[in-house]
Amino acid sequence: MSRATLTIDTGAIAANWRALDARSAAQVETGAVVKADAYGLGAARVAKALASIGVRSFFVALAEEGTELRATLGPKPMIGVFSGHMAGDAALIGEHTLTPMLNSPEQVQRHFAHLPGHPFGIQLDSGMNRLGIEPADWTGLRQAVMQARPDLIMSHLACADEADHPMNARQLAAFRDLTNGLGVARSLAATGGILLGADYHFDLTRPGIGLYGGAPFQDASDVVRLSLPVIQARALSPGETVGYGNSWQAARPSRIATVAAGYADGLIRAMSGRATLWAGQVPCPLVGRVSMDLITVDITDLPETPESLDILGPAQGVDALAEAAGTIGYEILTGLGRRYARRYEAAA
Ligand SMILES: *Cc1c(COP(=O)(O)O)cnc(C)c1O
Repeated sequence: MSRATLTIDTGAIAANWRALDARSAAQVETGAVVKADAYGLGAARVAKALASIGVRSFFVALAEEGTELRATLGPKPMIGVFSGHMAGDAALIGEHTLTPMLNSPEQVQRHFAHLPGHPFGIQLDSGMNRLGIEPADWTGLRQAVMQARPDLIMSHLACADEADHPMNARQLAAFRDLTNGLGVARSLAATGGILLGADYHFDLTRPGIGLYGGAPFQDASDVVRLSLPVIQARALSPGETVGYGNSWQAARPSRIATVAAGYADGLIRAMSGRATLWAGQVPCPLVGRVSMDLITVDITDLPETPESLDILGPAQGVDALAEAAGTIGYEILTGLGRRYARRYEAAA
């Protein structure tokens, strides 16, 4: 079989949620962000595992993601939608009991007009200038919104992965100014915000990447292993080249393994000549260009040709691979290909 295997440890995801939950006080609720198919790892499996250990609030980006999640989780958990109430979504939001985080005066109007009495949250812009009601608009809307009793008021931090960044304190102060004294549950922290400490926790936290083993949560348990089958191996003489564009040339007698995954599977082309695969603890450099379905790997230093090589696993996590490719762990995870055979285990 040339299909690569992506092993996802839902026990490690549960352990990461518990570890992040332990970073905030007992009265602070810890939610879970499962947008983009739980960062590529499978929203249904991940959300079920998290619900089974007591997670009560989930977040997605789009209403459509929320409807699938509702079918998975049943009626009880809160499912928040970061993009809010978009035109045409009233039926989805209403029938599946989603909680849109309203982002603009238009969304507030739309929600009150189409779904009066239906649960909602408010997303405020505290300085990131991406999603959320602007402070000037909030002043005018606040009274009507508070009369309709929102379930949550939230905002999002732009620089939380840098603990010393002055933007964190600025956004904290802005969020407090906009929300102090309202008597509504508040949420400011994603993974990075949880690690910034108690001032940032408010009533509910919203971790995503930390659950899936990524930075900035340095103490996370490994969640994914990606094993790529070796299709064939060959001996090269010095001076022979490998792959498109002849971009790598053997400097010594070499053995090159051709391995079954490529940029169509999320191993982005920027990894060409830069990433490392692993045979247990032995590093094997990716050589030549990444092509659509294949990569080529220098296995000269291995005693024999392995059946497979790992590109994610205990020897190399998502952040290490991301660094080699000039990106971030989030992009590596959400790019994980649809062709991989996903295997779930609950080791922890
Ligand atoms: C994606 C997202 C999160 C989760 O962020 P992580 O950095 O993955 O923990 C939380 N809140 C909002 C608004 C988001 O868009």
